Amino acid sequence: MNKDLSHLVRIDTSAPESESQASVQGQEPSGSALLGLDSEALAARMMRAGEPAWRGRQLAEALYHQRIAELSEITTLPKSLRQRLIAEGWLVARPAITQVFQSIDGTERYLIQCQDPEAETVETVWMPEGDDGESSDDSEADTPEILRAPSFPQLLPENVGKHKPQPALLHEEKTRPEGRWRRATICVSSQVGCAVNCQFCLTAMLGFRRNLSAGEIAGQVIAVFDRHGIEVGRDRVNLVFMGMGEPFLNYDNFMAAVRLLVREVGLSPQRMTVSTSGIVPGIERFAREPAEFRPKLAISLNAPNDAIRGQIMPINRKWPIKSVLDAVRQVQLRPRERITFEYVLLGGITDRPEDALELARLVRRTGLPIKVNLIAWNPGPGIPCTMPQLEAVEAFRSALVGAGIPTSLRQPRGRDIYAACGQLKRTVEG
Ligand code: SAH
Ligand code: SF4
Repeated sequence: MNKDLSHLVRIDTSAPESESQASVQGQEPSGSALLGLDSEALAARMMRAGEPAWRGRQLAEALYHQRIAELSEITTLPKSLRQRLIAEGWLVARPAITQVFQSIDGTERYLIQCQDPEAETVETVWMPEGDDGESSDDSEADTPEILRAPSFPQLLPENVGKHKPQPALLHEEKTRPEGRWRRATICVSSQVGCAVNCQFCLTAMLGFRRNLSAGEIAGQVIAVFDRHGIEVGRDRVNLVFMGMGEPFLNYDNFMAAVRLLVREVGLSPQRMTVSTSGIVPGIERFAREPAEFRPKLAISLNAPNDAIRGQIMPINRKWPIKSVLDAVRQVQLRPRERITFEYVLLGGITDRPEDALELARLVRRTGLPIKVNLIAWNPGPGIPCTMPQLEAVEAFRSALVGAGIPTSLRQPRGRDIYAACGQLKRTVEG
């Protein structure tokens, strides 16, 4: 019954073993990088430098609220202290946006340069109107929403077709005219490359390069906040940890970044969603995190059974669907919270009517409050998959809805600049 997928040759069954290699703990971008340290750690560092502990609070304020990227510009610290710290080799080490690719739909894809000796770049995506990958439930319904006027001018009917997608070099000014967006989402990377080797994903082609530190993960958010002049508490921004990499194979740094974003930056974990390909030990640890630091959870299910999943996601051979679901059951959900199952529709492979029915049965049997988020496969060079037909997508969605499964369809944001799901591969040509 299942289509033969043997032409999908990049199956790497060793991917799960890379977990131990990939979960090197507590990396910092440099010996004296400040970004990535919380108030307590900054206070401890200040004390070690012979300063009072409250200097640490000042530093945290400068790094995470004022979003100052240069130590020399932290004017709340006396100049002599700044000079001394710089002489001792301290630096903020915030990841820097070095290139911006702008999509016709308003999405921006950033190449972000980490301040490490290899000068690796990662990708972060800004979606001014979200893509429905983040709206996994209504558990944040009480949070005030600030509505803004219509979005990007190029999306107005009179301008459609006039705007040419183009790679735009970084411009200095902060792009935040009032009334530009209503419900932005930032897609954040957790690793350089990825070891999991899903057969349909462009990031997989990079292989695993390295883990990002907590400062590099949180730093992407801070850099994008700075670019768009975000005011925490006023602006509605969701974070999705769905960029390059598998967050649960870099668990400690990922969770340290979440804690920084909650405690120091002031974001709600209910406005964050982490997506995993199904790393069972990671899900089990995640289930034990306190609710105050636990983002919402999305599982890349992507297939209705182990046979198909095992062919498109080699990780399934180590952690089959049942083991993933057993781990997911351990998560104590908040009121109204749902687990999202992401499901990539691959033409002729996972988008058939019988797949929809089998998926409906599978997710219903879990007994969990769930929602399915369908993602039409986004193409990338060198990947032997095909996009699903529009009719197949619609039929798939209707079948799930007809079976009573809450279902959404993710909008393909920024496809023209390789910013959509699974397209992140440091493509510099835009
Ligand atoms: N590594 C994590 C998070 C990043 S991938 C994970 O796999 O969950 C984010 C989502 O994009 C996943 O649901 C993944 O299945 C999906 N995805 C990957 N490649 C894709 C592609 N080419 N088109 C559409 N979705 C894709
Ligand atoms: Fe890695 Fe996610 Fe891509 Fe799979 S889909 S290769 S886990 S980034």
